[in-house]
Formats: sequence, C-alpha cells, structure tokens
Amino acid sequence: MTCRWIDICPLRKLEQEGQISQRWKKEYCESKNSWRNCKRFRLEGKNIPHPDNMLPDGTIKEKE
Ligand code: SF4
Repeated sequence: MTCRWIDICPLRKLEQEGQISQRWKKEYCESKNSWRNCKRFRLEGKNIPHPDNMLPDGTIKEKE
C-alpha cells in the first residue's frame, strides 16, 4: 500500500519542476510501509500545518 496522499502531495510538483529527484517518492511515498515515517504524513495526521517544500525527513528544500 502506498501513501494515501501520493497523488495530491505537494512533492509531486517539486518533482515535475525538477527541484527534487524521484528518490523521496521511491523511498517513502511508493513504499510498502515507510510512508508511515514521513514527517509530512505525520503532521498531516495531526492536522499540523507544514510547508509544501518540507521533505519526508523533515528537511526544508529551498528553491534553487
Ligand atoms: S511525501 Fe509523505 S505525505 Fe507526501 S505522499 Fe510521500 S509519504 Fe505521503
């Protein structure tokens, strides 16, 4: 089972823009279970706002 947010996650836009690689998608979003460890997923579950450019490990991806 992939992450429930996989299609609407803001990371998809960053991937399309070439700002991040497919690594996060492979390691978290499409994984069987690792999406549970995604910081975005956890904050979403607690209804805590988080920036669109926050990566699954909690780091912020600055625009290049
Ligand atoms: S970044 Fe996190 S919340 Fe977004 S789709 Fe991937 S695992 Fe889900």
